[in-house]
Amino acid sequence: NVSVVLFTADLRVHDHPPLRAALDGSRRVVPLFVRDRAVDAAGFAAPNRLAFLADCLHDLDAELRRRGGRLVLRSGDLVTEVCRVAAEADADEVHLAADVSRHAQRREERLRRALEADGRRLHVHETVTTAVAPGAVTPSASDHFAVFTPYFRQWAQQQLRDPLGAPRTVRVPDGVGSEELPSRAGLTGVAEGLARGGEAEGRKRLGAWLRSGIAAYEDRHDDLAGDATSRLSPHLHFGTLSPVELVHRAREAGGPGAEAFVRQLAWRDFHRQVLSARPAAAADDYRTQHDRWRSERSAHEDVEAWKEGRTGYPVVDAAMRQLLHEGWMHNRGRLLTAGFLTKTLYVDWRVGARYFLAHLVDGDVANNQLNWQWMAGTGTDTRPNRVLNPVAQAKRHDPDGAYVRRWVPELAAVEGPAVHEPWKLRGPDLEALGYPEPVVDLSEGLTRFKRARGRD
Ligand code: FAD
Repeated sequence: NVSVVLFTADLRVHDHPPLRAALDGSRRVVPLFVRDRAVDAAGFAAPNRLAFLADCLHDLDAELRRRGGRLVLRSGDLVTEVCRVAAEADADEVHLAADVSRHAQRREERLRRALEADGRRLHVHETVTTAVAPGAVTPSASDHFAVFTPYFRQWAQQQLRDPLGAPRTVRVPDGVGSEELPSRAGLTGVAEGLARGGEAEGRKRLGAWLRSGIAAYEDRHDDLAGDATSRLSPHLHFGTLSPVELVHRAREAGGPGAEAFVRQLAWRDFHRQVLSARPAAAADDYRTQHDRWRSERSAHEDVEAWKEGRTGYPVVDAAMRQLLHEGWMHNRGRLLTAGFLTKTLYVDWRVGARYFLAHLVDGDVANNQLNWQWMAGTGTDTRPNRVLNPVAQAKRHDPDGAYVRRWVPELAAVEGPAVHEPWKLRGPDLEALGYPEPVVDLSEGLTRFKRARGRD
């Protein structure tokens, strides 16, 4: 009468179908998190996400203890550890949320086989890490949608299950040992302005967002300086908030802001259903192949300038510095900086995607790789050759220049939108600022782009 609940990207007690199913019939459960060695070995364990994860694990443990339980932490090979814990607890079943990356899919298969060999069952639950499960809606002629708009039409018509409350009590069997939970304090290389993790923090943020942010989302989501998006992405990534619950609560709030927000949540599911059907899209071009990219080595200086936020294009630099300071970047900044790297500098999208994954607290294979591919024109964008002009974009989405002044102190004294084109300032003024000259001329970049795409 014991179940193991394996927590992965669903670090919460509210709206947690695997936990609820495991507790059914007053069974005892072992809430387990395994620090998967393979994820670390793949270089995916970035300090910002490890720090956020440490907060999440502490918080999950606290939530479970409040209900009479506790979290068991193990590290090593995930399959071996789950089987070991199941044996120690004499559990007959293991519950797990479905996930989409190739690594997760293979891991799930291995786990199923290993458990079955020991006479135990694996239950895989859908709609824990997405609102609509990958594969739940498909076009007639394919196993997934390659274009967002028709996907969204069907997605929006799906009847979502009701969100579950948190369980009142969690009874854990004796005799299953746990490693000590990790703490933020022991980590180096964590961004100074990194947000706090954990379900309690996520629910607080969600409450504030529903009360005072969501209503203006449609009008303000692109306003770089206004910072008027939810910042719920790391909570969705680690599953401290449930996407099903989020859609329900946003719909209850109602209005154009909520509708626009729900549409963004559908983007998240969209990318997951692409990756689930085409796991190779994490590394390979999804739809259109381009092979004339500059590599990290051949464009070394440009790439370094981009990474460090000294390209000479203030809005690009501001966004890259926000990433370094917070481990998070505004969506408009992500679009601009990714467009700049791939279409102006013509550097392989994988170089940028890797760098983002090394820093983003919400760094997520599906969202990151497929958004990068969108910007590079290799992915699901139906207008793959569109180019964002960083100066025009800056004037539009940071009209007064406040975002640039916040993140690029060298330009803090330049007033108004002039901050977006420092090269127009006169000689001595410009030199005194100590801000770099542009690494590339925009029209040169465009020529290179057109030539590489065979469009001239
Ligand atoms: P909000 O605007 O409040 O949106 C609410 C939620 O909707 C987000 O938390 C997110 O889960 C989802 N969402 C919003 N926009 C997108 C989108 N374009 N694609 C998929 N889901 C979306 N998002 C990640 O979560 N992880 C990543 O690694 C990631 N990498 C990106 C890389 C690039 C090059 C680009 C252009 C976008 C990337 N995004 C990524 C998508 C998006 O930028 C972030 O989800 C968003 O900025 C997070 O801030 P927020 O929570 O305030 O978003």
